[in-house]
Amino acid sequence: MGTKFLKTIVGLALCASSFAYADAAYPNKTITMVVPFAAGGPTDTVARLVAQSMTGTLKQTVIVENVGGAGGTIGAARVAKSAPDGYTVFLHHIGQSTAPTLYRKLSYNAVDDFEPVGLITDVPMTFIARGDFPAKDFKEFVAYVKANKSKVTYANAGVGSASHLCGMLFMTAIDTELTTVPYKGTGPAMNDLLGGQVDFMCDQTTNTTSQIKGGKVKAYAVTTKTRVPSLPNIPTAAEAGLPGFEVAVWHGLYAPKGTPKPVIQKLEAALQIALKDPTVKQRFADLGTEPVSSDRATPEALRAFLKSEIAKWAPIIKKAGVYAD
Ligand code: ASP
Repeated sequence: MGTKFLKTIVGLALCASSFAYADAAYPNKTITMVVPFAAGGPTDTVARLVAQSMTGTLKQTVIVENVGGAGGTIGAARVAKSAPDGYTVFLHHIGQSTAPTLYRKLSYNAVDDFEPVGLITDVPMTFIARGDFPAKDFKEFVAYVKANKSKVTYANAGVGSASHLCGMLFMTAIDTELTTVPYKGTGPAMNDLLGGQVDFMCDQTTNTTSQIKGGKVKAYAVTTKTRVPSLPNIPTAAEAGLPGFEVAVWHGLYAPKGTPKPVIQKLEAALQIALKDPTVKQRFADLGTEPVSSDRATPEALRAFLKSEIAKWAPIIKKAGVYAD
C-alpha cells in the first residue's frame, strides 16, 4: 500500500515536471490556427496576417485551417474539443458572443470551453451590392429592397456570422423579411456577388474595401458610428436613414480550455507583437481597421468583453426572434 502511494506521488511529480518542461519547450512544432469560415474571406484575412507575424515571433509555423459552416459554430466546436496543448488556437469574431443566443443547442460553451488570449481588432461592416444593382444610394437601396422583397437575395455566412447579424438587424430596421443565401464564409459569397448570383450583403471592410475601391461592387453605407477613414465617401447607415444602426465586428484569439497558463502567456506576447507589427498595421489600415490597444489584447480583456457582448446581444437577438437548431 505504502509503496503504491509512493509510486503515485513520484508519478504525479514526474508528470507535473514533464508538463512544466513541455511548457518551457513550447512551441516545438507547427501551431494550427482554426478560422471558422472559408478561406479568402475577412476573418481569414485577419487570421493570416496575425499568423504570419506570430510565426516569426514563436519561431514555429502558425498555419491557418479553415473550418467553415454554420456561422462559425462548427469551427468553434472543433476547437472546444481539441487538446489544450497550445498547438490549436482559434481566431473568431463577434459570432462567439451571438451564437450562444442564436442557437437553441450548441455542443460547446462559448465562455467555459475556451481560454482567451486577447482581442485583435474591431472591423466596420459595409452594405454592398452587385455592380449593376439598381440603386444609387442607401435610400434608394432600402426602397428597392422593400419593393422587391420577394426577389432580392441577401448573402451571408450562416446563422451566427457577422454578415447574418448585420442582415438580421437590417431586416428588423426596415421591417422586411428577405431571402438569405448562406455560405461557409463571405469569401465565396463575394465571388457570387461579383458574378451577380446574389444581390447584396453586409460584410467587413477587410473583405469589401478592394472591391469597393475597384468599382466592382456598389457600396451604400458603413455600419459604424462614424465614417471609415479609408472609405470617406460612404455614409454611415445612421446618416443615410437608419438612426442608431451600428455594428462593428471584433475579433479575438482563444485556445481550448485547460491550455497551460505559460503557453497562453507566450501566445499573448506573440499576439501583442503582431498587433504592433508595421506590416500588420499597414494592411489593417488599408482594409479599414486597426489593431486594438495592447491593454485589450489580453486574456482578461477578452474574457470580460466576450461576456459583455453575450449580455449585449442576447436581448437584441431575442427581440428579433431569430433562432437556429
Ligand atoms: N464575414 C463573415 C461573417 O459574416 C465571415 C468570414 O467569411 O470571414 O461573419
